[in-house]
Amino acid sequence: MVHLPQRSEALVLRRTNYGESDIILTLFTATYGLQKGFAKSARKSRKRFGAVLEPFTQAVFQWKKGRGSFWLLQEAELVTLRFGLRSDLQRLALASYGVELVGLLLQEGEPQQLIYELLCSFLDYLEQGGDEFSARLLFELRLIYLLGYMPHLLHCSECLKIFANELIRFDANRGGSLCLDCAGSGGISVDLGTIGSLARSLKVAHRQFSGFSFGPKTLHQAGLILSQVLQQILPREPRSLKFLSQL
Ligand SMILES: [Zn+2]
Repeated sequence: MVHLPQRSEALVLRRTNYGESDIILTLFTATYGLQKGFAKSARKSRKRFGAVLEPFTQAVFQWKKGRGSFWLLQEAELVTLRFGLRSDLQRLALASYGVELVGLLLQEGEPQQLIYELLCSFLDYLEQGGDEFSARLLFELRLIYLLGYMPHLLHCSECLKIFANELIRFDANRGGSLCLDCAGSGGISVDLGTIGSLARSLKVAHRQFSGFSFGPKTLHQAGLILSQVLQQILPREPRSLKFLSQL
């Protein structure tokens, strides 16, 4: 059976050298989700692919169906290299973390238009020198939301009481926010203001990263909340997280 070449824009998540001169890429596309791409002899000749086989690069790939689920990559046209990410270790670590989260949380071959746009916008914002702390908060929050794992925020996840102006706690294992009566000594203490900030941030378009300003307390508490949720849904701890927390 002859397969005609197809074209897809994709973001390179990961690059692995294979054999003497081949490269295997983990690609992320809007229409086909995560895919593995095989670039034959790509380390010998740079003619066909140029510099597009590096992580964070976006390009339009021409590919044919290979054996199994692999795409046989034919050639590529560069969209953006995001070279600026490599000039700052903190940004590079955060970009690597974002890419690894997507790789860990998505199923291969599942279309994910909104998450594709989210990840590309996150990387663009980091490359342009945007605020790293709010970028991480917004990226984690939206990823959790778009994957359908959003915990209860503005009401108690057990008695469903809507919070007015009170102390609350958060426990991802019990569904999210909890009133003090339900929480007992479980979960972590959080301010209603933090929860409100998270809920409001979800009302902004998923591609927008600029124009947010979170105080240190909100960033700290939101970080605890989101990492609790991520720990619940990730198959393992991201390798990039250790590096990121050392910086
Ligand atoms: Zn309650």
